[in-house]
Amino acid sequence: MNVRKKRFLFYTLLAGVFMLLFLFVISALNSSTAPIHIEVQAEELIQTPVSTSVPESVPAYVTVSESDPDPDPAPVEVSSLPPDKPEQPLPAQVGTIPAPTASVQVITAPPQTTSVTVDTYMPNGVVAPSASSKVSIPVLNYHSVTMDPGNVVVISPAKLDVQMKYLHDHGYTPISLATFINLIEKKSGIVAPDKPVLLTFDDGYVDNVEEAMPILAKYNFPATLFMSPGMVEDASYLNWEQVKQLQEAGWDIQPHGMTHPHLPKLSAEQQAYEITEARKLIEEKLGTQAEVFCYPYGEYNQTTLKLLKEHGFRYAFTIDQGYTTNQLSPYLLKRLFINGEESLKAFINKLSKAN
Ligand SMILES: [Zn+2]
Repeated sequence: MNVRKKRFLFYTLLAGVFMLLFLFVISALNSSTAPIHIEVQAEELIQTPVSTSVPESVPAYVTVSESDPDPDPAPVEVSSLPPDKPEQPLPAQVGTIPAPTASVQVITAPPQTTSVTVDTYMPNGVVAPSASSKVSIPVLNYHSVTMDPGNVVVISPAKLDVQMKYLHDHGYTPISLATFINLIEKKSGIVAPDKPVLLTFDDGYVDNVEEAMPILAKYNFPATLFMSPGMVEDASYLNWEQVKQLQEAGWDIQPHGMTHPHLPKLSAEQQAYEITEARKLIEEKLGTQAEVFCYPYGEYNQTTLKLLKEHGFRYAFTIDQGYTTNQLSPYLLKRLFINGEESLKAFINKLSKAN
């Protein structure tokens, strides 16, 4: 073999080696640029925004899977992106997390206790009371005061007189709505009277001025009337002149819906009208504040509670049975229904449980 042939053989081998080397490098490069595993994790969406320079067409939040061993991942393919796109705010993905919904149950008659919490529907500015400072006040729930034997919703004037006399002779102190609120809110400087009790009359029957007012006046007792201003033209119900007489006698006048509707059967707009129009008329006619609602038939739903809060109502009374305390939701205050047919003994038992 001459020198030429040897040289040819050497260069051929050298070329072969380079070729192998080249193939090896190509293969290595291919493996290192294999597509990385990108996954979007729901948890990360909230916490790890990447640079805001990422255009909208790229998911704003990417994380490299921990299972990928490559410590220095290749950059995300960007060749298709337009260059120098100006910085933009993050897409609105952060805000797509649904707000928690309140666990309010829709209530239909007869009303039951609900899962509404004190905090959920605490009116603006009212602080939830601590468990160690419980205030408990019986709130008596009357309606019509006339003779109607057999009708448990109606109490005779004579029977109402006996009950008021009992309260008077046994140290009970019927209070105004303002005092009731001060006590419930534990306003500083407010001294609770002996055995406070709130007397409430629902619906605004004309007998409230004819029968109840003189009886309560005998004992100098205030009361609270929940009326429906849409009924003032009906002769069975109080007209504005009579409502003013009650107000002058120390009664607080508050709304009970415009037309005493079944609120849960109404649209939000209709409910808003029933609630706010009743309040507006009472405030206009009587020059007073009417921020305490009473649910007609004791019925309400989540919309009702929202509306009360939106419109700044302070409290609302149900017909749920029990003693009102400052640990109840302010919009779910309980009362004691006075059955017109029950005995004085039953009335006393009902009251005494409150103390
Ligand atoms: Zn009613």
